[in-house]
Amino acid sequence: MSFRATILTLYPEMFPGHLSTSLAGKAMERGQWALDTLQIRDFTTDKHRTVDDTPAGGGAGMVLKPDVLARAIDHASENDNRPRLLMSPRGKPLTQKRVRELADGDGVIIVCGRFEGVDQRVIDGRDLEEVSIGDYILSGGEPAALILLDAIVRILPGVMGNDLSGLHESFEGGMLEHPHYTRPQLWEGREIPAILTSGNHAAIAKWQREQAEQLTRARRPDLLDKKAEK
Ligand code: SAH
Repeated sequence: MSFRATILTLYPEMFPGHLSTSLAGKAMERGQWALDTLQIRDFTTDKHRTVDDTPAGGGAGMVLKPDVLARAIDHASENDNRPRLLMSPRGKPLTQKRVRELADGDGVIIVCGRFEGVDQRVIDGRDLEEVSIGDYILSGGEPAALILLDAIVRILPGVMGNDLSGLHESFEGGMLEHPHYTRPQLWEGREIPAILTSGNHAAIAKWQREQAEQLTRARRPDLLDKKAEK
């Protein structure tokens, strides 16, 4: 069965967005993954089709109503065991490890928040896994969902041209990746490191490993700490 994403959103027109282009778009055309959207507003029952209301306790902005959102979630998850995610700056920061786990499954149901966020009771009552894409605030969950799906789709079997290239990337080995070079050999007075054109594959692998380590130590020592804990 191929990977299927269902997105709950007030802005279905934002999908599939950039995922209709490039490798993800071709993979979608080939049926290797599919995306459908549910308009949250379609699950309202009042004549004004109200999706939000003022926050209890006061304060700025609006909150997505639990009853409306729950109906949309229940519709999406009928006879369906896919994980239910909520894009949220308060969620667990997304990692390549979680991306890989999700890519190994049947798909995802993703709720995109808007305004101040969603009523806490629907998060608890529908067991939503809150996922953050970083420590900054977006205006809505849609771009975050597109980023999550981008990361998942590129590692689905057969999507990337060269399946091997995924294994050497930043984070996969708990480290940042070594630098890359391509022709011309000399550009603006800068040479490609001689070792890379030496043809000595063992020496090249060693150099790349050392570079990765140096880079990780300088920029992301937290990754090395995590590696040591394992
Ligand atoms: N008031 C909230 C922010 C709401 S932003 C707070 O301070 O926590 C509106 C919506 O954008 C959120 O419900 C969420 O779905 C999405 N969003 C914003 N930043 C995000 C992030 N870093 N990661 C994932 N989703 C995010």
